[in-house]
Amino acid sequence: MVDFIADYYKNIENFPVLSQVQPGYLRKLLPETAPAHSETLQDVLEDVQTKILPGVTHWQSPDYFAYFPSNSSVAGFLGEMLSAGINMVGFSWITSPAATELEMIVLDWLAKELKLPDEFLSTAQGGGVIQGTASEAVLVVLLAARDKVLRKVGKDAIGKLVVYCSDQTHSALQKACQIGGIHPENFRMLKADPSKDYALSPDTLSEAVSHDLATGLIPFFFCATIGTTSSTAVDPLLALGKIAKSNSMWFHVDAAYAGSACICPEFRHYIDGVEEADSFNMNAHKWFLTNFDCSALWVKDRSALIQSLSTNPEFLKNKASQGNLVVDYKDWQIPLGRRFRSLKLWMVLRLYGMEKLQAYIRNHIELARHFEELVAQDQRFEIVTPRKFSLVCFRLLPPQSNEDYANNLNHDLLDAVNSTGKLFISHTVLSNRYVLRFAIGAPLTEERHILAAWKVFQDEAATLLSKC
Ligand code: PLP
Repeated sequence: MVDFIADYYKNIENFPVLSQVQPGYLRKLLPETAPAHSETLQDVLEDVQTKILPGVTHWQSPDYFAYFPSNSSVAGFLGEMLSAGINMVGFSWITSPAATELEMIVLDWLAKELKLPDEFLSTAQGGGVIQGTASEAVLVVLLAARDKVLRKVGKDAIGKLVVYCSDQTHSALQKACQIGGIHPENFRMLKADPSKDYALSPDTLSEAVSHDLATGLIPFFFCATIGTTSSTAVDPLLALGKIAKSNSMWFHVDAAYAGSACICPEFRHYIDGVEEADSFNMNAHKWFLTNFDCSALWVKDRSALIQSLSTNPEFLKNKASQGNLVVDYKDWQIPLGRRFRSLKLWMVLRLYGMEKLQAYIRNHIELARHFEELVAQDQRFEIVTPRKFSLVCFRLLPPQSNEDYANNLNHDLLDAVNSTGKLFISHTVLSNRYVLRFAIGAPLTEERHILAAWKVFQDEAATLLSKC
């Protein structure tokens, strides 16, 4: 299997980056029922080669530029292997003390590298926990915040609780509100400011909160984003956080993608103001060389999480837990069972070291700067929002200025580029404009891939424009 995977990486550039199969393709290729008798690994691998790989979109391809990256590395891979080999289920400290303690230590290490306030460390009242995804992270803190406020105002007030974010916030928060029983009308997606590169203006938050307070509602949760999904906008944490705090709201910071960049001193300023936050999240599985899944969440007050999520059934009772001597991560998350995910993050931190990790981030940002320069030099294109990290948002300009026409043209360009199989990009819509997103961050991407990708854009754009 290891040889098979090594060959996969060796040949990864030969596959179409975006799988070109049609819906339902696999059912036609596999039997209706499971085999009655054992088959050989060789048989299975042959099927992987001929039937599975054609239906794979190659996220680790150096020509993958869609959504945000989802990194893998040898270090992360070795951690995954070891975790699969040991295969323990570490829900309570006693079920594998090393799993809990390594997770606490590794997240303290990472918190220190991000220069998070000391309150987020496990040695204080807070601590870190590895969730599967940023969606789970925001859900658990929303539940903690909800229950904290309901303990004060009474359970019947749940219909009055209000959540705030910008219209650039990831839909994970909306889902968390749906699960958390927040009234849909009390989920405020405030308009981000296009003149501030789609960051949320503190005045907008302040006005919304004042309005809701005046009508008897209870503001209780605010989520800011560092590196929004559409365009990597950065919400001003300090000013927003002060408003959240002065109104006794839980302040969550979603830095799922861009948090990784903040290990570099020159990018740390993007999270200035995180001191005000109650919780902070970054996905090590996005841009930190740690194989999926590994979403690091820190809270300042772990007791809030535990009060919301803990259960204490007889069959799980043990001396360490009953004596309050240990962290039981089952009380910090939705499921009971949990994998030994800290191993892979530990491997990444140790086998790279902070200097190489910083160099890794800087290289992608430099490649993105170069790509942005190439786009800016071609008058047929425009940069839509100034680049901050390794995402470039741009679009092809139509021969005549008509927004619908421009949107269709860029939609067609995206389809044309992705259909070549030479690269894979995604899109967003900003101020009703269809925008192409070129997100750099795959570990194998080099300068030559950026140049080749730009050539595809230029060629496909020329073809489309010639038909206009
Ligand atoms: N938050 C931001 C800013 C994101 O960009 C994403 C995904 O790209 C998410 C949250 C959701 O991430 P996950 O898939 O880990 O839930």
